[in-house]
Amino acid sequence: MPRLVISDWDGTVTKFLLSRLLEHQKRAARLCGLPIAPIVRLEAYERNGGRPYASFDEAVAGFWPNASRMRIKAFALAFCLEELVGAYPAVWGAARALSALRSQGVPLALCTSRDPVTLGVHLAFAGVRPWWFEAIVTGIHRYQKPDPHVLRPIFRKVRVEPERALFVGDTPTDWETACRAGVPFVGVLTGLTSREGFKKCGVPEGRIANTLPEALHRFCG
Ligand SMILES: [Mg+2]
Repeated sequence: MPRLVISDWDGTVTKFLLSRLLEHQKRAARLCGLPIAPIVRLEAYERNGGRPYASFDEAVAGFWPNASRMRIKAFALAFCLEELVGAYPAVWGAARALSALRSQGVPLALCTSRDPVTLGVHLAFAGVRPWWFEAIVTGIHRYQKPDPHVLRPIFRKVRVEPERALFVGDTPTDWETACRAGVPFVGVLTGLTSREGFKKCGVPEGRIANTLPEALHRFCG
């Protein structure tokens, strides 16, 4: 039984719906007069196990390298609003599994690149309570995944050896973060990365689960 479970949010506790994300991005881009072709191109790359952009800023800079700062700012705001009101559905049984684990005395933490406001709304939508988590690292933290320092506030709060913790995530970036921090990892398939995509990155077959509840059942049972 791990002494701490660190979970990613999007694609792990909630189901990642690429169609919804792309729709949000495209709507925001159209509103700001930005071309949507780069958004569409990213899909095939990520589906094939390619490392997604580590941060929103990195993605936007990659999409439209020549766009003005004002236009990028407008896009970021429009996209945030789309995401805020268009929360993603929770993975079936995820809230219950997290709550049960917490009741067993296992400390929980969240590590996500979401901004805290949107995360707060999405937590409520998914029936997950913020106070279940000993620590929540969001997109406004100084460090971002895959930098292992991103986990520092979590380990400062919950004093356990990294190898006694478990990191559950849905992307190669989560895997890289866990590896660099020395935390055992389980990849789930409710996000953008396929089983083949994980394996291509070096995640062993036995460390891939279909969903978060399955991962917690198998590795925290
Ligand atoms: Mg994710």
